Amino acid sequence: MSNYELRCRECGRTWGNQPRSICDDCFSPLEVAYDYDALKASVSRERISQRPPNMWRYSELLPLPQNFTPRLPVGFTPLFQAPQLAARLSGTAAGRNLYIKNDAVCLPTLSFKDRVVAVALSQARAFGFDTVSCSSTGNLANAVAAHAAREGLKAWIFIPSDLEPAKILGTNVFGAKVVRIAGNYDQVNRLCSQIADEHRWGFVNVNLRPYYAEGSKTVGFEIAEQLGWRLPDNIVCPMAGGSLITKIKKAFDELIKLGLVEPKEVKFFGAQATGCSPISTAVKTGSSEIEPQKPNTIARSLAIGNPADGHYAIRTIKGSGGWSEDISDPEVIDAIRLLAETEGIFTETAGGVTVGTAGKLYRQDRILPEETTVLCVTGNGLKTTDVLAGVYPTERPIAPKLTEFEAYLQQTLDVEEVPGAIAATEQVESIGA
Ligand SMILES: *Cc1c(COP(=O)(O)O)cnc(C)c1O
Ligand SMILES: [Zn+2]
Repeated sequence: MSNYELRCRECGRTWGNQPRSICDDCFSPLEVAYDYDALKASVSRERISQRPPNMWRYSELLPLPQNFTPRLPVGFTPLFQAPQLAARLSGTAAGRNLYIKNDAVCLPTLSFKDRVVAVALSQARAFGFDTVSCSSTGNLANAVAAHAAREGLKAWIFIPSDLEPAKILGTNVFGAKVVRIAGNYDQVNRLCSQIADEHRWGFVNVNLRPYYAEGSKTVGFEIAEQLGWRLPDNIVCPMAGGSLITKIKKAFDELIKLGLVEPKEVKFFGAQATGCSPISTAVKTGSSEIEPQKPNTIARSLAIGNPADGHYAIRTIKGSGGWSEDISDPEVIDAIRLLAETEGIFTETAGGVTVGTAGKLYRQDRILPEETTVLCVTGNGLKTTDVLAGVYPTERPIAPKLTEFEAYLQQTLDVEEVPGAIAATEQVESIGA
């Protein structure tokens, strides 16, 4: 017998373990519930810290099939201080309290979606599926395709046709069948629900959704462990379907329940792009329900206009005393560049949303410089390079001669005299380095 099973979030009816995401009685979403009393005896800080540095070190707190053997060292991404970014975002020198959780380097496909897929596919196998599938805004597509290849499962991936080319190629390369749909994510997702009724496939974010979502908890477990088994004051988290933010909250609650960290009220701050901001709009207008939007933003990985967990994300944010904000597309690009220039991390648009929103929250004094704050950077910038097209003009090549270079250098230094010619200055520095 396992220590977990599906339970309705609203009426509490239990459903055992099966590929299902909705309660038939009240049509509310299911989530995985655990027997925490049994877990208390088996988990400890010591036992966890002796295990290899990947998300499987928290196996007892994940819904994994019996005798499951992990095949990839997913997760345990770096958490580090970001003092220069802190100075720029908060306008103070109190930079030691801002941290980046960097899932831009999560294995194997460079986003936090590897965590959710790792858990979902463990169950897909246990339920006897030979084909896995998903609707995706890009990163989930990459992760499902890669993990399916590794597990020897067939993959059918459904995406909006206008996704970033790197995200489409980064799905094709694993041998997955990619179906481009002329529509937005919400339309793709609706189609997948219909397909899931017709075909016996494991849809990671439809019939396997409760298991999938649990994988996101590992972001929260790692943050706490990497802070020395301590919870931060604030979390800033990007939101698409709204699942990740609720699962980091669940992770912290579980660590408290199991006595692995001291109880603490952590404030949760949600980040969205203004062009697709159904959750932050609800928070800002004081509504507890989502009004669906039609997405129009470069932050395509967050472009879900009707978020499945929107209602619960609002509850997490408001219940914690946090807030939610959103920023424009130009601000997203500025934030991508700011993170890269201050801390050497190249994030995708979703990370830009998080960093830019954090700046806004510091300016609003909703986050204070002396508070320990963790920004969740969830994806890699090499997947969304198209949004930076035109930001860095291609320089004229020079001949491979010292005289040519000296002339070029002089010219560049002359430009540097001009106030505001920042890009040129940095170019000289990088040549010099
Ligand atoms: C999917 C995704 C998110 C948001 O996750 P949800 O759980 O759907 O809110 C954030 N960042 C990136 C890079 C993603 O791919
Ligand atoms: Zn129910």
